[in-house]
Amino acid sequence: MNGHDQLTRRQLLGITVTAAVGAAAGAAVAAEPAFPKLDEKDPMAVALHYVHDAKLVDPKKNPTYKAGHHCANCLHLTGKAGDAWQPCNLFPKKLVAATGWCSAWVQKPGTA
Ligand code: SF4
Repeated sequence: MNGHDQLTRRQLLGITVTAAVGAAAGAAVAAEPAFPKLDEKDPMAVALHYVHDAKLVDPKKNPTYKAGHHCANCLHLTGKAGDAWQPCNLFPKKLVAATGWCSAWVQKPGTA
């Protein structure tokens, strides 16, 4: 074995480590896609009266809203309980605030 062989092995090891780290990062991204937060001005959000903070809902303009209703206890929320921003069935590839609300709210069973 000469110096040239050692350098080649080091390079090979570096390439292998780099590839392994890259593959792990790619797998993490594929398993948990990072979607952008829903904009309250998004046309669908406006149509459904979505807001990031359910406490700001005007009950006179949204008679179906009741205190205590928010995305975290809505049937359409699909994320991990406790996360501040989660996917919603009604807003594909966007995240809604767990504290948010829209007029499509439906009580999630077991959250009464
Ligand atoms: S459908 Fe439910 S989870 Fe989705 S934005 Fe409306 S209230 Fe929130």
